[in-house]
Amino acid sequence: MTIPSLEELNALGRVQQPTYPDAAALDSAVARLRNSPPLVFAGECDDLTEKLAAVTRGEAFLLQGGDCAETFDGVTADNVRNKLRVLLQMAVVLTYAASVPVVKVGRLAGQYAKPRSSDTETRDGVTLPAFRGDAVNGFDFTPEARIPDPQRLVEMYNASAATLNLVRAFTTGGYADLRQVHAWNTDFVRDSVAGLRYEKVASEIDRALTFMQAIGADPDEFHRVDFYSSHEALLLEYEHSLTRIDSRTDKPYDVSAHMVWIGERTRQLDGAHVELLSRISNPIGVKLGPTTTADDALALADKLNPDNIPGRLTFITRFGAQKIRDGLPTLVEKVKAAGTQVAWVCDPMHGNTFEASSGYKTRRFDDVIDEVQGFFDVHRSLGTWPGGLHVELTGDDVTECVGGGELIDEAGLANRYESVCDPRLSRVQSLEMSFLVAEMLRK
Ligand code: PEP
Ligand code: MN
Repeated sequence: MTIPSLEELNALGRVQQPTYPDAAALDSAVARLRNSPPLVFAGECDDLTEKLAAVTRGEAFLLQGGDCAETFDGVTADNVRNKLRVLLQMAVVLTYAASVPVVKVGRLAGQYAKPRSSDTETRDGVTLPAFRGDAVNGFDFTPEARIPDPQRLVEMYNASAATLNLVRAFTTGGYADLRQVHAWNTDFVRDSVAGLRYEKVASEIDRALTFMQAIGADPDEFHRVDFYSSHEALLLEYEHSLTRIDSRTDKPYDVSAHMVWIGERTRQLDGAHVELLSRISNPIGVKLGPTTTADDALALADKLNPDNIPGRLTFITRFGAQKIRDGLPTLVEKVKAAGTQVAWVCDPMHGNTFEASSGYKTRRFDDVIDEVQGFFDVHRSLGTWPGGLHVELTGDDVTECVGGGELIDEAGLANRYESVCDPRLSRVQSLEMSFLVAEMLRK
């Protein structure tokens, strides 16, 4: 497999790409990235493909989560640790309920660029270019901040490297110890109003762990976890300059993350994103919204995974709670009938966004849970495996989504709304989700 040139990709159309005013500055940023060391290694990407193959076979469950948009300011030890902690806590609950391994993938260390539904943003009669993520331009609503700056691509690389470094240290250096993670879950159940409902599952996990301890079982897996990075492969210059031929296998890998996905807005079959990702050997995802036809999905699978390798391709459906029960069955049925090897994962966030009366972009916790329930119902009725969750969340106590046991209401959104893009589940809402999905998995 060869890597197409950037010119060839650009010739396919620059959908959702910034227009950089300074071509020389862009060239120099790209040159810098081309010489930068890989952030992940091909062998690690292959390990993740193997794990996702287990998801495809119904023998594992994927938990993928993190911010809608990471920010450069958010690269702090506290922030990364909190996000990691909530994901690990969720994974323990899901592993217990699913009785299969949970594959842990962060939506982090590279999630700095956003597709936008409009190229511009208007406030109080002033129209400026839309914010496209810290990898592209500044969030401040000023003409200067909103100019795309290619130096930000280099900053994205550095921020991703720092984040991954922390993640690698936390997940192998004792922080991910299973008993410790479960102790945090016990704290959550004890200390929060929402937690009481989940006491039974938490104490069952407690007993299982105590039993393991009593028989003297102390496997290595209790003390460390495999954790992978992922982001939307959106910015062509960035992803292309980090696509390298692996010396071991002679195959191209995008070494910006273990897994990358194609968004709903850039999944055109003959577009640059599908072309680039069709050439790399990483595991990849594609977001599929409610307008996706079965033919679209089959054509994407054909192009992105022509050898039908299990674990290579994950379909991340994001239909919305209202549409999933009607829309998903045909898609899944036809893909199944074609013998296409794919992991089915539910993104219950992006089909459930609305604007609150206060102007905040938000989501109802109940809609999010209802979409996951619809996803389980559809797959259960078709005999396919509901393979996982793709969630926008944070480890902090933000107020961005309404509902949940803490009863955040629309008026409460203003208290701590910190997302620079889509609303994320708070720490408590995320933990609640894991316990609710645990109930679905056990039925
Ligand atoms: C996202 O994951 O933040 C996103 C923009 O999703 P989608 O491509 O599904 O709209
Ligand atoms: Mn989002």
